[in-house]
Amino acid sequence: MSELALKAFRGLYPSRQLPEMEVAYSGRFKEYNGNVEMKKFGWTIIRLKFGLSKKFQETQEEIRIGIIQHLLNRVYKTKVKTIEQDLYNNFLKHLSTYSERKESDPELVELFHELNEEYFHGILDQPNLVFGQQSLTVLGHYSYSSDTVTMSTALREDRLLLKFVLYHELLHKKHGFKTSGTKTMYHTREFKEDERKFEDPDIEKKLTKFVRRKKLRLW
Ligand SMILES: [Zn+2]
Repeated sequence: MSELALKAFRGLYPSRQLPEMEVAYSGRFKEYNGNVEMKKFGWTIIRLKFGLSKKFQETQEEIRIGIIQHLLNRVYKTKVKTIEQDLYNNFLKHLSTYSERKESDPELVELFHELNEEYFHGILDQPNLVFGQQSLTVLGHYSYSSDTVTMSTALREDRLLLKFVLYHELLHKKHGFKTSGTKTMYHTREFKEDERKFEDPDIEKKLTKFVRRKKLRLW
């Protein structure tokens, strides 16, 4: 029985029947991630095996308890809140601060500076800015853990759309994400309010048209 999992379990459920629990660290997770496998006997969960990214081995115990509790809430379909889960969520939110820099694309860097002056009072820290592949089914993506915006090269043909999607991704950096129970909110009300400040009020329509034509999706 894993002592860590036991602490996590009892922190959530002081009197629920204990399953057998095991924690294994694995290098196959790219980022701070984890999963859980369960074995049932009838309706009763008798065994849980938590797989956590190796990266967690360097984090404090509370954060590891936090992710296990997050997974337990999913397994048992509960929404019990704990300080450890808050710590874990805060840890994820602030990860980008410690990420290393990569080589950024000059065209995106130029657009970033424009956007930073126009919409962020020049105070947003520059994330890594890179182009992905033409064949991506996603127009843009912001990774919190590596502090990187990846843009589809399909947008290169339209500077205004490229600027808007980059703006959208930078808003992800600015706003982070909110969690309630087991749900994670990325496009919050504040996010959408900011998004509407973009210079071209018809930009969403233009993007929809472009996306329909290209059959791409915006995340
Ligand atoms: Zn988004």
